Amino acid sequence: MFKVLLFVFSVALLASVNPSMADNSLPETVLHEEARFLMGTMARIQVSASTAEGSALCAAAGYRALDLADSLFSTWRPDSEITFINNNAGQGPIKISDAMAEVLSAALQVSTTSNGAFDPTVLPLVELWGFRQPEPGPSPSDTAIQECLNAVGIHHVIYQANDQTIEFTHPKTQLDFGGIAKGAALDQAAEAMMKAGAVGGMIDLGGGLLVFGQGEEHMVGVINPLDSSHPLDVIPLSNGSVATSGQYERFRVHEGKTWGHILDPRTGQPCEQALSVTVITQSALLADALATACFVLGPEDGLDLLESTPECEGLIVFESYDGVMQRLSTSGLPSKN
Ligand code: ADP
Ligand code: MG
Repeated sequence: MFKVLLFVFSVALLASVNPSMADNSLPETVLHEEARFLMGTMARIQVSASTAEGSALCAAAGYRALDLADSLFSTWRPDSEITFINNNAGQGPIKISDAMAEVLSAALQVSTTSNGAFDPTVLPLVELWGFRQPEPGPSPSDTAIQECLNAVGIHHVIYQANDQTIEFTHPKTQLDFGGIAKGAALDQAAEAMMKAGAVGGMIDLGGGLLVFGQGEEHMVGVINPLDSSHPLDVIPLSNGSVATSGQYERFRVHEGKTWGHILDPRTGQPCEQALSVTVITQSALLADALATACFVLGPEDGLDLLESTPECEGLIVFESYDGVMQRLSTSGLPSKN
């Protein structure tokens, strides 16, 4: 399992002093840029504040928030809150943190609105298909898939909002926030930076990007899934988030076939209907979850979900039966193509 390329990249070149101060609409700011490897990807922060020291402090606050999100939501970490839940919620209700409760309720909500296409309990299936092993084994048998599906589904999750507890009704149910954690982390990092005094900025988490506060417009390139050398589209973004899900970023190859790491919880099979899905909306958490959901739903149902979500735009790329790349976009997609 590895990353071959970044889907979404910012092609904006920011000057070290915010150029929009020229029209006096924004206070004079100093830009701080930094990149660190975390959450399994390169996390790039650009943040402006009134002083150089202030913007560096904002970036530090942003990285602290990203680290915190990882310590809550990463199923790869033995000490994370989600791992604690996975190890204990099968035995009875356990108390969860405010941040966990917020992301869990959002995940359950998207699961419901996507008719189960997005499913935060997909972990047993992800493990069965070998996505968490260095080397893929043979594809699982239909019997093994069926058995695994018995533990998958949000009906196995009892979340009590009043006392903030979670319990699993099936002993093998396990949470996986892989489809929503990066988006949640982006929102939390932007909030932390604004609290630390940021005027505005941009965070790029590879596959998910958020522009927050005040500042210049960023041009976000959506990579062509069949030809990474040219962007398929360029989306102007002055505030809000863009997330892309696709099977060319993480996959395993077995017996000459490529399996993407997004699984259809309704069939237990890897999803093959789309090549990539890009979603643009205010909340990075929602953009991330919807991109995964629409990847499962495929072009037509995915587009319906995006069109029915308020203040949300998107682009679904897929291959038609004759092997030609096709795209479907929502009516209001702010494309520069
Ligand atoms: P990325 O990891 O590249 O940001 P996504 O946001 O699309 O990509 O999330 C993919 C991850 O989400 C998978 O690695 C897995 O952990 C999890 N996942 C797989 N299938 C589903 C699904 N149907 N619903 C929710 N999460 C899923
Ligand atoms: Mg996602």
